[in-house]
Order: sequence, then structure tokens, then C-alpha cells
Amino acid sequence: MENCIFCKIIRGEIPAKKEYESDSIFVFHDITPQAPIHLLIIPKTHITSMNEIGNLDPKVTNEIFQVIPKLAEKNGILEKGYRVVNNCGNYGGQTVGHLHFHLLGGRHMVWPPG
Ligand code: AMP
Ligand code: ZN
Repeated sequence: MENCIFCKIIRGEIPAKKEYESDSIFVFHDITPQAPIHLLIIPKTHITSMNEIGNLDPKVTNEIFQVIPKLAEKNGILEKGYRVVNNCGNYGGQTVGHLHFHLLGGRHMVWPPG
């Protein structure tokens, strides 16, 4: 997508601190971290939100979730625990219209979320 900020990051048009990349997914550090570890995991295919997950190749969906504990281990948060978040739509608090999962860790999370 031409004007999507995350597509621009994938294409290297906007700088980002890359954590991991495969043929299908891209992982980078959130620019406004909400925890000591705050990564964003995104498919390289432009999918607008969780509502369109059916348009994503299930192999890629699987890859996203398989990589999460690997990222957690690499960042030293596997044992203590972490949180995976998807914000969907207006009420969900989504601000970027490219499907992404937040991986947050390094502090004790609270519930319920704000
Ligand atoms: P959400 O509010 O769930 O849509 O999450 C979007 C996230 O993208 C927010 O946590 C932002 O801080 C983050 N974000 C926005 N622009 C950038 C950027 N250029 N590089 C890294 N993270 C970004
Ligand atoms: Zn996009």
C-alpha cells in the first residue's frame, strides 16, 4: 500500500529498528515503547486489521505466532512472561491500519487494560 506507514517501513522508506525479518514477516521496535521490550510483528502483506485475518495466508499467521516465543526468548522475557496485543478498529485503539501484534515485556502488566 502506497501510503501505509508500516508498508513504508518494510520497503525501507521509513527508518525503523529492525529486530527480525523473513520472507513473510517483519519485526521492529515500537517508536513509543510502552514497556522495556515493545516489538511490533507485522505481515509483509498489507492486511488492514484483525478483521481481515482471513485474507492472510495461514502459513504467515502461523509464522507470526511461532516467532513470538523466539523473540521473547531472545529478549530475555520468556520465563517471566509477556503480553501479546492486537488493537482492532476504533474502540480497540488501533492507530495504524496495517495488521500488527504488539509484544510487550520487561515489566509487570496490569489487567484490565486501559
Ligand atoms: P496501534 O495503536 O495498536 O495501531 O499500534 C500502532 C503502534 O505503532 C503504536 O504503538 C505506535 O507507537 C507505533 N508506531 C507508529 N509509527 C511508528 C514508526 N514509524 N516506527 C515504529 N513504531 C511506530
Ligand atoms: Zn501496510
